[in-house]
Amino acid sequence: MMQMILMELEIKVGFPIKNLKTGLKMRRLTLFVVFILLSCSKDSPIPDAPKPIVTKFTLTVTASEGGSVTDGGTYAEGTEVTVTATPSEGYRFTGWEGNDSTSESLTITLNSNQTFQALFELIPPVQYTLTVSASEGGTISEGVDTSDERLVGLTFMVVLGTEVTFTATPNEGYEFIGWEGNDSTSETLTVTVNSNQSVQALFELITLNILFTAGNGGSIKIKGENIYEEGVELSSAINQIEISVEAIPELGYIFVEWRSNFGDMFSAEKLYFPTEYQFLPSNTDIILNAAFVLAQAPAPLFDKDLWWGQIVDFPPEIFFASDLSNTLREKFTVDLNLAISQFGNYGPLECYVLGNSTNAANELAIEYCNRRVERGQEGDLNGCIDNQMNDNGYGMEYYRKDNDGNGIWASLNGSRHHGYHLLQFSKPYHYEEDPSSIEYTIVVFHEYFHVVNAANVFSDESIYIEGIGQQIPERGPPAMVEGSANYLSHYLARKLFDYPNSYLNLRLYMVTQMDNIKRARNEFPNCNNVNLSEINFGDSCDMYSLGTWGIAYLLDRADNINAYQEVLFPLINDIGYYAAFEQTFGITFDEFEIEFRIFLELPISQQIEIIPDI
Ligand SMILES: [Zn+2]
Repeated sequence: MMQMILMELEIKVGFPIKNLKTGLKMRRLTLFVVFILLSCSKDSPIPDAPKPIVTKFTLTVTASEGGSVTDGGTYAEGTEVTVTATPSEGYRFTGWEGNDSTSESLTITLNSNQTFQALFELIPPVQYTLTVSASEGGTISEGVDTSDERLVGLTFMVVLGTEVTFTATPNEGYEFIGWEGNDSTSETLTVTVNSNQSVQALFELITLNILFTAGNGGSIKIKGENIYEEGVELSSAINQIEISVEAIPELGYIFVEWRSNFGDMFSAEKLYFPTEYQFLPSNTDIILNAAFVLAQAPAPLFDKDLWWGQIVDFPPEIFFASDLSNTLREKFTVDLNLAISQFGNYGPLECYVLGNSTNAANELAIEYCNRRVERGQEGDLNGCIDNQMNDNGYGMEYYRKDNDGNGIWASLNGSRHHGYHLLQFSKPYHYEEDPSSIEYTIVVFHEYFHVVNAANVFSDESIYIEGIGQQIPERGPPAMVEGSANYLSHYLARKLFDYPNSYLNLRLYMVTQMDNIKRARNEFPNCNNVNLSEINFGDSCDMYSLGTWGIAYLLDRADNINAYQEVLFPLINDIGYYAAFEQTFGITFDEFEIEFRIFLELPISQQIEIIPDI
């Protein structure tokens, strides 16, 4: 700029500057030039100086994908311009193309045309590690994340905020108790991942008690670390300790089996825990009973009064049709012995259990009749066999053929005049088809209760029952005979066993019995006034249901579930049924009939309160 001003000065003065050394004018001019030079060195505008020429440059600014930038433009040379890059959501700024700055805000002094591009990139998702594990005793399912994607394995790499759901499942014999690393108590856990995390499902061995019991005719011995118990019942947390339990029959008895209150059976006399634990339910307390039976049969010949009415020390004799499996035979034997251990061992008792086969039924008929002839109870062997196998009577063929319909037929068929009890049963198919069913068990209990009833009537004379117009042994009116056998067998089965879902509890069962009574009363109006002393087999008023409720009412009234067989039965022989009834329950049978008729009018919700909730 200085040079340009000096050149213009030379043109105006009209002579070369080199001649300025001489003359006055020259001196004045020199001063002037010095002044100009001095002035120019301060960069001051020069009065009368021509306008300077301004140079302009262009700044071009663009943005890559993922952001924006402030505009560029055209500026005079030397202008300072600041441009700012702004990333879009999910992107981040990475720098400038055309400049080394790493700052989002860039200031440049423009002295040439320049081009910059703001550069952006997608922010990569942050990944965290989620580790899931299970303690001993359980497993973890695969995880499922927010978008329903299955996460295989137990270590997941997931982005921030991902929700992962998985489920802890305990192994048999264990229970889930919670999570380490999470407060949830639910087996299904959803984790929102916001850091590196680990969670562990915690499981614990379920502690269960098992109660070992010994039936009549034996005891048990339990051995283990710090344990030695003999002849007693013991509770133990058997899934966590090692013990052995041995069933020991008394002299004259043999061991039959161990049987749990859930129907599990063990034929070994000695059981080892926890090994056997896998065969038992793992989520509930268990009772395991050792069953024993008498080893000796009764003497083959006996007088009809020799044992009648007594508790005997020999076992019942059970004759199985040859087509019955060992399982059916074992279960039948155990159930019969259970009934005997509850009600007393009345004998002699012969049980005949039929299958489906006619040949097998015929074999049983021959065996039965041979015994009768041998003991002088029958004279005609072939006549006896014919009676057992014809279609009309209650013989072996009757119980065999009814298996076709899969019904259960069983009866006490004597025989006081011969001095022994005779029970006949149709095939106990439930034992195999539905092992958890107690339907047949109840039938065995029912029939044995009849034996107990009969054993307490010593007279071999039938008596004439006026209301019924029939000669029968004085065991009581049929409604009470069947009602007591029915109610007490159902009661006993529920008291002894715990078979979830396989049958109704006693109260619900009794509701069905009351429904039967009401149905009969609706259909046949005379049933509203029927007497329990008069109703008989085959009566349309439903003798069984009425008798069952009648007995339930009496036993609740007496507040003694055993009053019928323990108080009333032993009195029958000496004073007759109705006097025994009055002495046992404190009211006459007629008074009972009136009370019971009033009871039948109550709402079911009130009636059901007298039934034990088992
Ligand atoms: Zn019966």
